[in-house]
Amino acid sequence: MTEPLEALRGYVHFLREHEGVRQVRLSHAAQQGLARLVAKVKATTPESGRRSGDGASVAAIARRATESPDAAAVYDRRPLKPSSTDTFAGPATATTKPPLEIIGSTKAEKLRHLAERASVCVKCPHLVARRHTVVFGVGNPEAKLMFVGEAPGQEEDLQGEPFVGRAGQLLTKMIIAMGLKREQVYIANIVKCRPDMPPGASGNRKPTKQEMETCVPYLLAQIDAIQPSVIVALGATAVEGLLGPIGTIGSLRGKFLEYRGTPLMPTYHPSYLLRNQSNTEKRKVWEDLLKVMERLEMPISAKQRGFFLAK
Ligand code: URA
Repeated sequence: MTEPLEALRGYVHFLREHEGVRQVRLSHAAQQGLARLVAKVKATTPESGRRSGDGASVAAIARRATESPDAAAVYDRRPLKPSSTDTFAGPATATTKPPLEIIGSTKAEKLRHLAERASVCVKCPHLVARRHTVVFGVGNPEAKLMFVGEAPGQEEDLQGEPFVGRAGQLLTKMIIAMGLKREQVYIANIVKCRPDMPPGASGNRKPTKQEMETCVPYLLAQIDAIQPSVIVALGATAVEGLLGPIGTIGSLRGKFLEYRGTPLMPTYHPSYLLRNQSNTEKRKVWEDLLKVMERLEMPISAKQRGFFLAK
């Protein structure tokens, strides 16, 4: 069975290899916490279920130890060495973060690798504690069009897929109105874990600046892997995550911006349209999407051009 030091070594190795962390120092209390946890696991795991050197259990035990309340782990996140594949330069929120290495030769492989990394991410322990799934992203790795939202809500957290709740159903309708299928585009969020809510509270909260800064490298790597022709940023948080706090969504929507050379159209988040169901607001979003369709040189029918116009 895994000994405390072995568990810790495994986790540090994982952090070095996958998270760009150079050093993890554990306080005496944290080391004791780790030893207690391992002892507890030893006592409760049947002999037959123990596998020495099992990478997953090593990481899981060490992770739990470093996240326990008495674990004062200090992560030194300076990148190990710059890599030629890492070129995140643009967004204000990303510049302070170590880049993520993108591994794989096809877009699908790159995304699969990134999804695996994200699925074991423990950078925001308070979100890890509540999450059911890491909602990485969904869609076609070869997509020309990418939608970026804020963060998973309750339904997304349960299903592990972005935009499947009420706002998501509206987004799906918008995609269909464009003449596309959901499977043809790629959909992801700035933050991959559901922002936690106080016990008993319903609804969603906006991710904090720190949560956004911590998580956005995954999205940037997704964009780097997919290289979409156009990005649609759904709502102010999506714009902020990619380009920094550059203005209100009301002032930004409808005009193409750029994210590292890729045209980016800011528009209202579908949840805004659920709260403001007037044709005037729907038309604004639709006009933004018409511009996206034009940029993608998609066919646009007269019927499509007229959606949400007063008859
Ligand atoms: N809102 C978002 O911004 N993203 C989701 O995935 C769902 C709702």
